[in-house]
Amino acid sequence: MLWLVFTTGACNLRCDYCGGSFPEKVVPYTVKYDPLKLKKVVEADRDATVIFYGGEPLINPRFVEWVMDNVRARRYGVQTNGTLHRLLPDAYWKRMNVALLSIDGREEVTDKHRGRGVYRKVTEAARHVRSLGVETIARMAVTADTDIYEDVTHLLSLGLFDKVHWQLDVVWSPRWDFEGWAERSYLPGIRRLVDLFLRELERGRVLRMIPILGVISAHYFGGYPGSPCGAGYRSFAISTDGRVLACPIAVYERWAELGTVEGGFRPMGAYLAKECAACPYRRYCGGRCLYSMIERDWGEEGFKAVDRVTRAYLDAVLSAIPRVDELVREGVVRLEDLRYDPTQDSTEVIP
Ligand code: SF4
Ligand code: SF4
Repeated sequence: MLWLVFTTGACNLRCDYCGGSFPEKVVPYTVKYDPLKLKKVVEADRDATVIFYGGEPLINPRFVEWVMDNVRARRYGVQTNGTLHRLLPDAYWKRMNVALLSIDGREEVTDKHRGRGVYRKVTEAARHVRSLGVETIARMAVTADTDIYEDVTHLLSLGLFDKVHWQLDVVWSPRWDFEGWAERSYLPGIRRLVDLFLRELERGRVLRMIPILGVISAHYFGGYPGSPCGAGYRSFAISTDGRVLACPIAVYERWAELGTVEGGFRPMGAYLAKECAACPYRRYCGGRCLYSMIERDWGEEGFKAVDRVTRAYLDAVLSAIPRVDELVREGVVRLEDLRYDPTQDSTEVIP
């Protein structure tokens, strides 16, 4: 299981797609429950991955240290904005398996949305934690300013990130001309990235672009029964007030409250909306994001717009399968190298 452990609801940045800190009343800025109860919950899971989450989790490095010293897990990681990495001593970074660092691509694109100088700080953080043996994942938010091909290949070319993942700035932000942009820019860029993935695969190299790799993995290894992030069935978020949530973004929504670390909780199971249950892309997509499937903040038409783009992106990725089949048959690549489990990294696969 994946345990997304909030260390605080506070954040030191105010990126424009997110807005920064949660209200302290909703996600307290320090941990309010008995952490020994967290230990009990996590240690009951023999295959636990603990990912520190916030707010900005490194605002509360002492809690990160306490958990790493006292709560046994198979894997530890952090989702961070990459500006406070020095607050956690190197000895702890050395025990961390993975760091997801928020960066949107080229410097001007990142700094426009996250603040001046952020790109430089995040690349410095990636260099530092990677030198300590931590696997690094670039975690991009994709907006109208993104050129997906340029920004992804830029991040890959830095040699600082082992994997690149992206999420679309849809649903959370006010509605924008998302479909027009997708037709003009995003989908052609995705097709070029799929070509690049295949060219590298022909040389025996798996480019770890998670929205491509995670779909190819689903094709060969069974797919996703619900949202690929695992929300509510393989992934649980523990807020600083001790609530156990199906999704870490759903801090206000009653449907996401599964119980508490102190009183116990009940998983909600893999959920699929009715349109998804009958959808031919279901095993690759799992309904995309549980939160947006339930909340539908852009309304029905907005849901359909995102869905049309999701299907076109899936078609682009799946068009690679016949060639991947050949490369596996010829022994250029091992099938096992294409396996990807998003709950090991706390990624969502489908942008
Ligand atoms: S492509 Fe759309 S309808 Fe199909 S599973 Fe994904 S979100 Fe659901
Ligand atoms: S993909 Fe959606 S459901 Fe999953 S963690 Fe993110 S916001 Fe929550």
